[in-house]
Amino acid sequence: MDKKLGKRFEGKVAIITASTQGIGFSIAERLGLEGAFVVISSRKQKNVDEAVQKLRDRGIEVFGVVCHVSNAQQRKNLIDKTIQKYGKLDVIVSNAAVNPTVATILETKEQTLDKLWDINVKAAILLLQDAAPYLQKGSSVVIISSIVAYRPPASMGMYGITKTALLGLTKALAAEMAPNTRVNCVAPGFVPTHFAKFITGDANLRRELEAKTLLSRLGTTQDMAAATAYLASDDAAYVTGETLVVAGGMQSRL
Ligand code: NAP
Repeated sequence: MDKKLGKRFEGKVAIITASTQGIGFSIAERLGLEGAFVVISSRKQKNVDEAVQKLRDRGIEVFGVVCHVSNAQQRKNLIDKTIQKYGKLDVIVSNAAVNPTVATILETKEQTLDKLWDINVKAAILLLQDAAPYLQKGSSVVIISSIVAYRPPASMGMYGITKTALLGLTKALAAEMAPNTRVNCVAPGFVPTHFAKFITGDANLRRELEAKTLLSRLGTTQDMAAATAYLASDDAAYVTGETLVVAGGMQSRL
């Protein structure tokens, strides 16, 4: 990322979940380069340490905490440690998700349904419950959904439905948390990351997906970070309850 960036997050404290690689890492990097104190997290200490180092090497003020988002103690610890260090919260990006199955909806095991709900939807709500008392006036929440939220495909049915739920969650929380906190959502198109490798790693599938965009390419993690930074910043001060589709023009909604 060589272009000159603004400093929209100077003095702001931002927590980004699932942020040691992929989209979450790029969001942390973008907010950090724009001046935020960023708190990154994921399940594995080693990944947290490596990501902290990479961000520090870019001159970013960063703090790393292990947090499996479906672990209540670790969620609480993430908020507590952030407050102990910085004393407040301005931005939360809820980015963690799993996609553990390609089974059809009718064949998805109960245990898998629970896992999808727990990590993709419930953990986002519970984290915000813990964080709410510390969110400042003018703060902002960004929830990461997916283009498949609009029409869950057969191979990602239940995953897609959890992402649809996040569109509703965004609307409902925006009303509940107004006027002090804005709540918005980013729906990424397909981005080659570890998470999407089972799709984007297949050359034929990748070409098919590229052809479904208007811009003839898949997304980058930086594309998603730029959209998230916009929604989290004061540039979007009059935007709440909205979902921004960042998918190169891929069909989503009218
Ligand atoms: P990714 O590159 O595979 O990165 C996943 C990150 O999440 C890693 O830092 C991982 O680190 C962490 N993580 C995984 N499970 C976690 C958990 N239970 N609690 C906390 N951290 C966890 O994934 P990505 O593609 O950037 O996906 C990020 C988000 O974008 C997800 O919500 C996904 O649904 C959404 N999305 C992605 C695409 C795409 O095409 N890539 C498209 C639409 C939406 P550890 O292993 O250390 O935990």
